[in-house]
Amino acid sequence: MTDPFPLPTRAAGLARLHGFLPRAGLAYAAKRNNDLAGHPHVSGLSPWLRHRLVTEAEVIAAVQAAHPGGADRFLAEVWWRTYWKGWLELRPAIWSDYRQGLQAALDRVQVEAGLRARWEDACEGRTGIDGFDHWARELGATGYLHNHARMWFASIWIFTLGLPWELGADFFLRHLIDGDPASNTLSWRWVAGLHTPGKTYLATADNIARNTEGRFAPQGLATVALPLRGAPHPAPRPAPLGDTPDPTAPALLLITEEDLSAEPVVACPVAGLAVLSHPAGRSPLAVAPGVLAFTTAALDDALARLAAPQAQRFGAAELAALVDHAAALGARQIVTAHAPVGPVARLLAEVQRLAEVQRLAEPRGLSLVRVLRPHDRDAWPHATHGFFRFRKAVM
Ligand SMILES: Cc1cc2nc3c(=O)[nH]c(=O)nc-3n(C[C@H](O)[C@H](O)[C@H](O)COP(=O)(O)OP(=O)(O)OC[C@H]3O[C@@H](n4cnc5c(N)ncnc54)[C@H](O)[C@@H]3O)c2cc1C
Repeated sequence: MTDPFPLPTRAAGLARLHGFLPRAGLAYAAKRNNDLAGHPHVSGLSPWLRHRLVTEAEVIAAVQAAHPGGADRFLAEVWWRTYWKGWLELRPAIWSDYRQGLQAALDRVQVEAGLRARWEDACEGRTGIDGFDHWARELGATGYLHNHARMWFASIWIFTLGLPWELGADFFLRHLIDGDPASNTLSWRWVAGLHTPGKTYLATADNIARNTEGRFAPQGLATVALPLRGAPHPAPRPAPLGDTPDPTAPALLLITEEDLSAEPVVACPVAGLAVLSHPAGRSPLAVAPGVLAFTTAALDDALARLAAPQAQRFGAAELAALVDHAAALGARQIVTAHAPVGPVARLLAEVQRLAEVQRLAEPRGLSLVRVLRPHDRDAWPHATHGFFRFRKAVM
């Protein structure tokens, strides 16, 4: 990954995938942990995967075709993404608990002596910790960090700096172009010892120096990482099955930032196309301009491929107008890709409620249809326990 703020188009994502294919096998397995300038040993595909400009299924198929002898290490990483999404999908309360914890931490910032300054120093790379300060600035400048840098950063944030983990997860979500409720929240919880009970991730100076080829030699890092205390995991709910559109009913196709491959998801008469645009929903604080710009341009790219550049856009405060727009076009269903747990899913739940209210007045009225991709439908039910059990079922 070399370009800061990569091009938010499907064509650019596919070009990166094809450019990376020769390195997805043994080379990736050998070097993926090295965080070097320009990130030559990893794919940098996450911004496109995050918005499904390129899908997991496409990446897996292309890598399998290029490496018939196997590229298990790389494929396992792509499956980690699906695993985290499935795990959160089965336990949505973990996301709402995180949002509450974040609000509580932001309230603490208002009243606790020195906390604001320590938090701002960490976000702006002014702690004096070698490596950590570099990654804070790299994240701001490029919207990306190598996986190992994310692990070290989160570990230092929690165990050396003693900052609330939710503030760190929020800092990432506001600045990562690939910022993703599932991968981000659950990875931070994993580092903190809240995911696998009793197991934390401790960043050490040796490990950092080795995997950065001596670029960084931090001093004074925490030498123990006691797990943070948290509630036990909620029992998993059944995985969603996805809805089936009525093939005869006119549909408003609704595009969201969660799925921009712009493949035709359904076969039904199309009354119109609209966009639900909510890139700022990741955080109660301001999301980095580069992240907003990437998401907005990615939506534009999807609309261009659908030959609908003028499709009407609706924000979080305009959901009633969206439902009215669908009704005015004569649509009887609003069809959209299933949004995994996160801000967009919450908005879709509200669209569904508004559509139900409308149906009380007009029985032939609207319904919301959330179409689940086969990749998610087949994999998510296996995200009940740890990754290794999941991997056995899906790979
Ligand atoms: C604290 C922390 C926060 C993170 N936050 C996010 C986030 O908000 N969004 C996000 O997409 N990933 C997140 N990750 C996971 C991982 O770091 C990134 O997906 C990866 O670094 C993206 O770079 P890449 O595309 O070059 O990865 P590659 O190494 O080339 O891997 C290929 C693809 O596999 C998936 N993948 C790789 N590693 C992981 C992983 N550990 N977990 C889940 N999927 C993975 C990604 O989709 C990635 O694009 C986080 C990890 C940590 C430790």
